[in-house]
Amino acid sequence: MESSYVYESIAQLDRILAREEDGPAYARYGNPTSAALEELINELEGGAGALATASGMLALQMAVLTALVDRPKRIVAGNVLYGATTHMLMTVFSAFGVETTFADPCDLPAFEAAVAETKPGAVLVESITNPMMRVCAMDRIAAIARAAGAPLIVDNTFATPLLLRPLELGASMVIHSATKYLAGHGDVLGGVIVCDKDNFQTLTTLSRTLGPVLGPFEAYLTMRGIKTLALRMEKQCANANRLAGWLCAHTRIEKVHFPGLPSHPDAATVARLFPKDHAGAMVSFDLKGGRGEVFAFMEKLKMVVCGTSLGDVHTMVLYPAMSSHRDLSPRHRERLGIRDSLVRISAGIEAIEDIIEDLDQAL
Ligand code: PLP
Repeated sequence: MESSYVYESIAQLDRILAREEDGPAYARYGNPTSAALEELINELEGGAGALATASGMLALQMAVLTALVDRPKRIVAGNVLYGATTHMLMTVFSAFGVETTFADPCDLPAFEAAVAETKPGAVLVESITNPMMRVCAMDRIAAIARAAGAPLIVDNTFATPLLLRPLELGASMVIHSATKYLAGHGDVLGGVIVCDKDNFQTLTTLSRTLGPVLGPFEAYLTMRGIKTLALRMEKQCANANRLAGWLCAHTRIEKVHFPGLPSHPDAATVARLFPKDHAGAMVSFDLKGGRGEVFAFMEKLKMVVCGTSLGDVHTMVLYPAMSSHRDLSPRHRERLGIRDSLVRISAGIEAIEDIIEDLDQAL
């Protein structure tokens, strides 16, 4: 890792600093390895340019800043989002005068009304929501945002570009926590933003000043992970399908939340926008009982990992009320359907029989 570089001539440095010639100028502006990752993810998402950042949260923050820098300081956001995203909007951005209105993107008339009333500078949704696994009609949300002149920012972490390419459906910016499926091995913290033509220049200008860039080693690990993204997603989606079916039939499970189930409220949207049998690899379920029963279940797991992440090759279990959505008040969680009985599973690449055997003995 270099923080600055040497050049053939001062004239070349002048051209690079003037952005007339591509090339590294100073590590805060980027580095050659993260530039290679940016090219790769830009290709996968079909964008006009990308930025790799030091975390998924930083990618979200940069996307919001890019959208709002010259637009009204108002956001309409999906009502169910990763807990830290909701927290960022409610505490960090609100402290700087940005107002967020939360609305359900799966209730299109209500979401459209919220956008019409708020006249936001940005709209923010997740392609598969964390942890309730709802899937909105992204093309219609994009049309609503465009009609209001607000860029649509999509957190595509759970779907990955293999299942959904939001820019093709009209979104303006896509972000990922690269920590999850893109890197895929639980050994990187990183994020990416992919932009359409209209927003990339602003993002680059902000990024050069704020310096959110991903370090080269993390960029290298993320690229190495992406080499097997398609293989991993294939297996992980298949495992999640099998797992969801098995959980539905288990007497200790009250409800399964998985977009691949025919009974899922968004099944028609999934069938329309996602590849067949690829509804993601995340499954949530309500266990009969509450916190005590969830703790006992998690304590008994032998192979499945209790961790605070997802998208790893290992199957992982997380308790949203305790970790990913801990920062929300219990009443806020309850309102969103995130009950004390809710457990979230990230399906890994192990043999499905081994995953089921471990969950079964723990249940
Ligand atoms: N978006 C989603 C959907 C997430 O689940 C997470 C983290 O769990 C993030 C964003 C934030 O990513 P990071 O932890 O890389 O900052």
